Amino acid sequence: KSKGKKMAKAANKQVKLNAVLGAGIMGGGIAYQSAVKGLPVIMKDINRDALNLGLTEAAKILGKGIERGKIDASKLATTLNAITPTLEYSTIKDVDMVIEAVVENPKVKSSVLKETEEAVSDDTIICSNTSTISINHLAESLNKPERFCGMHFFNPVHRMPLVEIIRGNDTSEDTINTVVATTLKMGKTPIVVNDCPGFLVNRVLFPYFAGFSKLILDGADFVAVDKVMEKDFGWPMGPAYLLDVVGLDTADHAADVMSQGIPERMHKIDNDPVTLLHDAKRLGQKNGKGFYNFG
Ligand code: NAD
Repeated sequence: KSKGKKMAKAANKQVKLNAVLGAGIMGGGIAYQSAVKGLPVIMKDINRDALNLGLTEAAKILGKGIERGKIDASKLATTLNAITPTLEYSTIKDVDMVIEAVVENPKVKSSVLKETEEAVSDDTIICSNTSTISINHLAESLNKPERFCGMHFFNPVHRMPLVEIIRGNDTSEDTINTVVATTLKMGKTPIVVNDCPGFLVNRVLFPYFAGFSKLILDGADFVAVDKVMEKDFGWPMGPAYLLDVVGLDTADHAADVMSQGIPERMHKIDNDPVTLLHDAKRLGQKNGKGFYNFG
């Protein structure tokens, strides 16, 4: 009986104000998605230019939606007004949920999560959009790990339906229920998975990227591989283009974490073209050059 009561309470908890930490590719996209679905959001970064880029990106997505007749023109102002940019933690004190989307670095994420817990109330849900870092590891930086889980969006956020919700050892059912409900409210498809390197999607995707890197080292032409996978095999894009979309820095770092976490399935490749491009600061679409050059 008491379990039933607990479930009913969990189902009733509603997120009415959201916060996103980091206004980069993902943070900007998540803020847009929240706002466009009527869930106001505070977008925090440490860099004012990043905040401006996040807002510009949201405006661009809205502009395209209006052009294609998918979004009503009146939605532009309401959506942008629902995103509050900030550099201050004090602004997020009343939010119901925080989605951390700062750089994929365990030390930075751990300190951001600590700072977040100090800034919000005791029952605020805290999620991380990490692609690869263990949720159990990140949970160690929190006093109340039961209100913490992974909430992994995919890039580009406004187009990719899936969100992986990652349950840590200490995550409560209430937290999972609230995050599932909020994912649905944000117009996305939730899937709850356990904590493991790469979760579900990257566990499939990164061995594929590794296979692609080995082909390049064997002498294959990346443009030809992309053409085969895209035009002839029918995938939306080939591996080189997808790596440019993901970001070569993010992908390189993720490959490291995966090869350390599941060495029996994925090992680090010497002279991996992804690492070489990253070292050469060719980061992909985000800085205009990766495998391809972007205008
Ligand atoms: P990004 O480099 O585009 O953006 C990171 C942002 O975090 C920057 O704007 C930076 O100024 C900000 N930042 C750094 N330290 C901060 C701090 N202490 N407080 C607030 N903001 C801070 O990175 P991204 O590609 O958006 O990735 C963000 C997260 O999302 C990573 O964990 C990444 O693994 C994950 N992710 C990325 C993708 C992808 O395809 N790029 C997909 C899914 C998940």
